[in-house]
Amino acid sequence: MPKGGSWKIQREIRFDMYDVVIIGAGPAGATFARLAPEKLKIAIIDKRNLGENENFIRPKCCGGLLAPAAQRELAEQGLGVPENVLAGPQTFSVKSMDFDNNLVRFYQRHYINIYRGKFDRWLVSLIPPGVDSFFGCIFKSCSYKDQIFTIKFRDAEKDLEIKAKYLVAADGAASMPRSIIAPDRRVPDKYVSIQDTYKKGQILPYYFSIFDKETTDFYSWMIQKDNKVLFGSAIPWGDNVIEKHNSLSEKLIQGGYIEGEVLKRSGAVIYRPGSIRSILLCRDNVFFVGEASGMISPSSAEGISYAMKSGRKLAESFVYEDNIKKKYRTSMISMKLNIIYKNIKSAIMYNRFLRKIIMISGIMSIDVKDD
Ligand SMILES: Cc1cc2nc3c(=O)[nH]c(=O)nc-3n(C[C@H](O)[C@H](O)[C@H](O)COP(=O)(O)OP(=O)(O)OC[C@H]3O[C@@H](n4cnc5c(N)ncnc54)[C@H](O)[C@@H]3O)c2cc1C
Repeated sequence: MPKGGSWKIQREIRFDMYDVVIIGAGPAGATFARLAPEKLKIAIIDKRNLGENENFIRPKCCGGLLAPAAQRELAEQGLGVPENVLAGPQTFSVKSMDFDNNLVRFYQRHYINIYRGKFDRWLVSLIPPGVDSFFGCIFKSCSYKDQIFTIKFRDAEKDLEIKAKYLVAADGAASMPRSIIAPDRRVPDKYVSIQDTYKKGQILPYYFSIFDKETTDFYSWMIQKDNKVLFGSAIPWGDNVIEKHNSLSEKLIQGGYIEGEVLKRSGAVIYRPGSIRSILLCRDNVFFVGEASGMISPSSAEGISYAMKSGRKLAESFVYEDNIKKKYRTSMISMKLNIIYKNIKSAIMYNRFLRKIIMISGIMSIDVKDD
């Protein structure tokens, strides 16, 4: 059974020296905080207000689909998703629209449709009460002297400072600790994700994935969340991102796929690791988990499973006090191999000619009654 439950916001620096300070309480940071050895003095900092009854400022921009790999990781961690995290409808296929080849196919998919904000809050609620949490606080900087980290951060009113022996960077893509501690290290290719929320009356019986080389060499998606629809794209960094996203939304509006006003627009950086050389697991006494390490699928941008798995593997490595780095690096080999495999898949999926052959052949596709 998971620990935690009686979790609350601490926001009080209880120790002169923490064993570990975690930056970021997304799936990676929250998982590490939940599973790390109980004897460790741990603090976790997040700019989001993740407290139970607080207004949710700075929500995470996400499609909110739990892929089979994430479901498996949840199962392995002994967790079942609570009902209030689920969004509707739960659908079982994806409609792939290939604008480059003018083809449409349906594929069976086994995702679970969730509200990402609620999912993150639920994971955070499982963090044991012994972990000091500083939510609504922005990490500003860190320095390392005499084997001690000094971490500076800020809440709504004041600057704060804590000290720790180890730092865990779990702050997602464009990680600040990563750029401070390892500015020399190659980072994964950067994409910008723009996601619009539209109102939607009728139920869409599938998700959409859209391939359109005029917009991106990655992909765009549409996912229904109850009476709203998310339309998002992941577009290479610095590449007229807004114009490209808007131009695809025009095409979809003209095709009758989306309608009405944009209720909300959000954006985020998303990593796409084209090579495992861009994955960074540790440097000195800093450990990287989740997307901060570069771990995310380069073929689908699925990142929750990588975040939760790397958080768990790092927590397990902390049991081996004298050998944490070696244990963590070794335990992550299978995930690195997975990234290599996903890159091979990506090279096929995003090659216009190969995708055309696969879609025309009908391999793995299903027939769907689509009125
Ligand atoms: C538009 C979009 C759609 C996506 N859709 C899916 C999907 O459907 N399914 C899926 O599996 N993956 C999806 N992903 C990928 C997935 O969201 C990430 O890979 C995953 O969230 C990584 O988890 P993480 O814990 O490493 O980082 P994050 O979830 O990004 O968490 C990082 C945490 O650090 C905090 N933080 C960041 N900077 C600071 C700072 N300076 N100070 C304090 N706190 C800070 C943030 O508030 C956040 O809570 C999507 C990504 C994007 C951008």
